Amino acid sequence: MHELIVAMRIVLLMSLIAIGNSQAQQAPPNPEPDGRYKVDILEVVGHPDDDIEVAAYIAKLIEQQHKRVAVVYTTRGNSGGNAAGPEQSNALADIREMEARHSLASYGITNAWFLQGSDTPGSDVLHSLEAWGHGKALDEVVRLVRITRPEVVITWLPDYVVGENHEDHQGAGVLATEAFDLAANPMAFPEQVEAPRNRLSISNYGEGLRPWQPKKIYYVTDAIHLEFLKGKGPEYLTNDISPSRKVPYSRVAAEAWSYYKTQNDFTDAQLTEFSEMPVRFVLGKSLVGGAQTGDVFEGVTSNPLPYARARGYEPLPAALTLELGGPWAFYGLFWRAHNIEHLAYLYAPEAQVAPGESLWVPLVIRNDTDLTKEVNLRAALPAGWSQKPEATLYTIAAHGSYPLQLTITSSAAHKGTWQNLSWTGESGGQKIGSVTLRVDVVANGLPQ
Ligand SMILES: [Zn+2]
Repeated sequence: MHELIVAMRIVLLMSLIAIGNSQAQQAPPNPEPDGRYKVDILEVVGHPDDDIEVAAYIAKLIEQQHKRVAVVYTTRGNSGGNAAGPEQSNALADIREMEARHSLASYGITNAWFLQGSDTPGSDVLHSLEAWGHGKALDEVVRLVRITRPEVVITWLPDYVVGENHEDHQGAGVLATEAFDLAANPMAFPEQVEAPRNRLSISNYGEGLRPWQPKKIYYVTDAIHLEFLKGKGPEYLTNDISPSRKVPYSRVAAEAWSYYKTQNDFTDAQLTEFSEMPVRFVLGKSLVGGAQTGDVFEGVTSNPLPYARARGYEPLPAALTLELGGPWAFYGLFWRAHNIEHLAYLYAPEAQVAPGESLWVPLVIRNDTDLTKEVNLRAALPAGWSQKPEATLYTIAAHGSYPLQLTITSSAAHKGTWQNLSWTGESGGQKIGSVTLRVDVVANGLPQ
């Protein structure tokens, strides 16, 4: 009996060897990612109508260079005003999504995605990220980068500026920058890049996306003073004539804008001025070289890039420091972590306050030493300005920090001027740091 089993095994083994020796069997090709959604540029913006900021430039690219462009909106604009009708909230969001689709289609963009973030009017980026669910929103943006495989990402400047300074704009810029650095990392949202076990079957697990590294990221800003953008990125005039439409691209952008009826409470003169302004970019970073003010596609080829690891978070040095807190403190860490620290030098920290109204100024004292520290804080405010609370002495535990939430009341007499507010911290007779915030005393739109 035993011998029979051995003999059978030998026969089986020989037949296996025979299969191995017969002609190699070619595996079917691994399906390519769905090419219908590949783009040259992915715009990541906060609201339906933010896309108008670059519409004149994009319309020309699509028409003359046949570039493919798609847009991700991080909100559906449910909290905006409505100049077209009474609809608000979710109804307004439904209308604005449709406005965006019609507007984009007017210059050749057919793919747009609308995320579920609630339109959050304010100026503090962390507020938007909290309202949206930062992780959930980032999951979506990374997924859409992997689906659309953009060469270039265009988004809002992640910074606190004097201007519209919308926190949803900043939030879109933060998510786009994070996604730029994560989409090629298979450890980021790994379920997205897991191969489905049987793609032709139903109810699969594994999204089947591939990691993707975009090559460049550019920022646009809603800041009112644009002089700081000079030399920081390319600038495109909008007066070139569209060959098919026989009108300048500024006109094409104005027509695209006309689809956003709910958001259009501007005069014709304002619209003309707005659409005839050059489209200005700040180069965030390039993984393919090229000059800072060079063309957006300078250095970009169709060759895919490997994952480019950004610096990431690094612990702060063991020191006692005084800094601006809140969004300013966040951005200081964020820019460094994403290798865009040059944004810190675009301009000094600034804010705006309505004359006679109050301004929130967060400061933070960090004590990354091993000893408890006492810090004296001294404010230098313009005449007629006041601060609450008035405390000047702070105790900070070892490896702790103290967030100060200051309310500064401005003087109405300073209407229309810029003022400097500064604070100095001292400990044990030694200066530990000072911060200055430039403040534009002007009626402001959004809450801080
Ligand atoms: Zn917006």
